Amino acid sequence: MSFTLAIVGRPNVGKSTLFNRLVGKKLALVDDQPGVTRDLREGEARLGDLKFTVIDTAGLEEATDESLQGRMRKLTERAVDMADVCLFLIDARAGVTPTDEVFAEILRKRAPRVVLGANKGEGSAADAGVLEAYGLGLGEPVRLSAEHGEGMADLYAALMPIADGFAEKAAAAEEEAPRTDITVEEDEAEELSAEAAREAEEAWRPSARRPLQVAVVGRPNAGKSTLINRIIGEDRLLTGPEAGITRDSISLPIDWEGVPMRIFDTAGMRKKAKVQEKLEKLSVSDGLRAVKFAEVVVVLLDAAIPFEQQDLRIADLAEREGRAVVVAVNKWDLEEDRQAKLAGLKEAFDRLLPQLRGAPLVTVSAKTGRGLDRLHKAIVKAHETWNRRVTTGQLNRWLTGMLEQHPPPAPQGRRIKLRYMTQAKTRPPGFVVMCSHPDKMPASYTRYLVNGLRDTFDMPGTPIRLTLRGQG
Ligand code: GDP
Ligand code: GDP
Repeated sequence: MSFTLAIVGRPNVGKSTLFNRLVGKKLALVDDQPGVTRDLREGEARLGDLKFTVIDTAGLEEATDESLQGRMRKLTERAVDMADVCLFLIDARAGVTPTDEVFAEILRKRAPRVVLGANKGEGSAADAGVLEAYGLGLGEPVRLSAEHGEGMADLYAALMPIADGFAEKAAAAEEEAPRTDITVEEDEAEELSAEAAREAEEAWRPSARRPLQVAVVGRPNAGKSTLINRIIGEDRLLTGPEAGITRDSISLPIDWEGVPMRIFDTAGMRKKAKVQEKLEKLSVSDGLRAVKFAEVVVVLLDAAIPFEQQDLRIADLAEREGRAVVVAVNKWDLEEDRQAKLAGLKEAFDRLLPQLRGAPLVTVSAKTGRGLDRLHKAIVKAHETWNRRVTTGQLNRWLTGMLEQHPPPAPQGRRIKLRYMTQAKTRPPGFVVMCSHPDKMPASYTRYLVNGLRDTFDMPGTPIRLTLRGQG
């Protein structure tokens, strides 16, 4: 799901210098023969975790005569047509020149996506030029210094949504084409975490028809089969505490109040087990499979014996695997003092599962069907939150407020600077903060930010990933 970036702009703005920095090798020819026209150069670029193809249009001498002017235009147009996105560079020290205006005009007409870069942006000599660049009508300029490697984090942030867009486009294209198996290059496969691999796979699946994948997990006798039966509305799962009923673990397609879902049933499996110890073991590995399958994990507790070790383990696993979590307390029909019980449950939840802060706690009775509407709502909401995207503008306004309210620490007298923030991914939401000294950031401050994100942007029930990135 890579894309192609063309670096365009008039001669001498620093295109080759930036190309070299992005590609990491001296691939762009240093032009030692004046007046020599060379072709477009391509290289594989890396910027943070973004990988893309970059085309360099540098190499033309200053266009003084008509034919050179024309050649420059042709070359640029060709690069624009080949590229998914153009990075248009100007020289911020020189300010916007008439030739820059000509380029801007070509790009506005021809290029589908343009990122404007104000290069040679190091130092105050570039301030005026950066401001002028706004006037080109190509959006907010990214202030860069290709030579000194400054502004790369901002460039990353500007390209990230575009890269994401291509992932989505690829998914849409797949919807029209017949499904083919996904192959991942071996060396790439190693780099992909389980979460990322799953996400890549998801991206290839047609989203419109994709049912919401739910797993109901919990200790034996919590009421999983009864609950799933209730939801399905027919007695397909055979409930009951007696062991010996053999059934394979499967996922069932359902339409729960108009929402297509697949429910992963772990209950049937454990009924194969006869011995108690074996039973415990089996339900753990079974739960593992279910968590891997699911988008939303419903941790079903027995109100009489809530938050047992096994429940805590599986809830923690779901969080670590990046799943949305809903905690459902079952057999609520048997409780008498419900208010006191609920308060106790909430307290235990906060204390025992702080990593799931904000996840919904729903009381249900699988037997009577009470509370299932609330469970449905909680599942749909958690899934929606899991897919939530917050705009870069919102995030940075929020970040400014958070920093003012509670400035980051200053280890050894040097304050950690948080410069910029963007959402890198969804499912679950992942954010990147560009900062100085990411290694010195205490976990408490990261928690402050994560909890703030959760509260401000209303994201209960989903894990939130926050990555700190140093500036290159
Ligand atoms: P191109 O013709 O657009 O490919 O430009 P080059 O990459 O060949 O750069 C033109 C000149 O600008 C070279 O002397 C570079 O060293 C210089 N240059 C490139 N980037 C920067 C920068 O960020 N700051 C400064 N001060 N000079 C730069
Ligand atoms: P599983 O092992 O998690 O699939 O649990 P089952 O669905 O087999 O239920 C275990 C036992 O708890 C059965 O006897 C159910 O009838 C009972 N049970 C399940 N849900 C409820 C409930 O909401 N209220 C009451 N009172 N009993 C329930």
